[in-house]
Amino acid sequence: EPPVLEVRDLHVDYGLGDEAVHALTGVDITLRRGEILGLAGESGSGKSTLAYGVTRLLPPPGVITGGEVRYHARDGSVTEILDLTDHELRTFRWQEISLVFQGAMNSLNPVLSIHSQLTDVLAAHRPGMSRAARTERAVELLKLVGIPADRLSGHPHQLSGGMRQRVMIAMALALDPEIVILDEPTTALDVVMQRQILTRLAELRERLGFSVVFITHDLSLLVEFSDRIAIMYGGRIVEQAPARDLYREAHHPYSHGLLHSFPALHGPRRELTGIPGSPPDLRAMPSGCAFHPRCPRAFEPCSRETPRLLPPSGADDRPQEPGRHRNGTDPSRSVACL
Ligand code: ATP
Ligand code: MG
Repeated sequence: EPPVLEVRDLHVDYGLGDEAVHALTGVDITLRRGEILGLAGESGSGKSTLAYGVTRLLPPPGVITGGEVRYHARDGSVTEILDLTDHELRTFRWQEISLVFQGAMNSLNPVLSIHSQLTDVLAAHRPGMSRAARTERAVELLKLVGIPADRLSGHPHQLSGGMRQRVMIAMALALDPEIVILDEPTTALDVVMQRQILTRLAELRERLGFSVVFITHDLSLLVEFSDRIAIMYGGRIVEQAPARDLYREAHHPYSHGLLHSFPALHGPRRELTGIPGSPPDLRAMPSGCAFHPRCPRAFEPCSRETPRLLPPSGADDRPQEPGRHRNGTDPSRSVACL
C-alpha cells in the first residue's frame, strides 16, 4: 500500500539571500497509512517548519524553495500539495490534513462557546449540513475526545487545559481528515494529561484509521506512543526508525544524545545529560555533517562529507533471523551518519 504522505527533498527558508535562515534542507519523510509518526529534535531543528511546510501554512517570511509533498488519497489519486492553489488548499486542509498548532489550546476564541467553534468549522466546509446535523456532529466529536456533551454550551475558560486541548483535537477531526499533525499538543500540560490525550488519540486512530504526525520534545512519550520516530537536527532528518528499534539502539550520535537526555521508561532513573554545545547557525551551517562540531564520535571526514539518510551501515552484515528483516530492524530504518 502506498504511504499517505511523501515528503521529498523539501527546502524551506525564512527570508532571502545571505540573511536567509535555512530552516529545512532536503527533508525526506514518509508517513504510512494509519501510523503514528513521532517527530523529535531540539528547539529550532525545524519540526514546526516541517508541519507548516507540508500544510502550506508557513508564516512569512517563510518560503518553500524546493521539494515535493505528495498526498495519496484512499481512492489512489495523488495530489502534489505544493502545486495546490490557495482555493484548493482551503478544502484540502481540514478535510485531508489538519494541524493542531503549538500552543493551540490557547487559540480557542474566548468569547465563543465550544458549540459555535465546532459548528463554525462544519458550516465553513459542509455548507449543505443543517444546523441540527452540525450540532449533532459537534456532540459526537466531543464524545470522541471524551468531553461530556453538556460542555458544548460552555466557553473555553470554563474548561481545563487538557479539555481545551481535546476540543482542538475534536476540531481537527471534524471533517474526518486522513492525516492529523499535532505540534507539541501537550506543552504545559502535566504528564498524566499528556498520556491521557495520547492514549485517546491512539484509540481514535485505531477506530477511524487516520495517520498522525506527533511533534514533541518529550522523547519518552514518543517512544511509548509512536510507531516510528524521525529525528531532526539543523533542518534535516538525521535518523528514522521504528520507535522500539530507536529506543533499543540509536544509530546517530545526536539521537543517542537526545534519548539519553531523558530518564529511562523502565529500570533505574538515569541522570539527565543533554547534549553539550548549541544548535547550528542556520544562516551559516557547518560544513559536512551539521552535527560534527558537537559530535563525540566525529572524525576527520565528518567536516567535509554531508552524510545521506541511508540504511545504517552493518545492518545487512549481521546474522539474519528467519522471518525478520535485517536482524529485527525495519528495512526502512535509516540514518545520516558516516
Ligand atoms: P521548537 O521545538 O522550539 O518548537 P522547532 O523544531 O519547531 O522548534 P522551528 O520553529 O521550525 O523549530 O524553527 C526552525 C528554525 O527556523 C529556527 O532556527 C527558527 O529560529 C527559524 N524560524 C522559525 N520561524 C521563523 C521566522 N518567522 N523568521 C525567521 N526565522 C524563523
Ligand atoms: Mg516548534
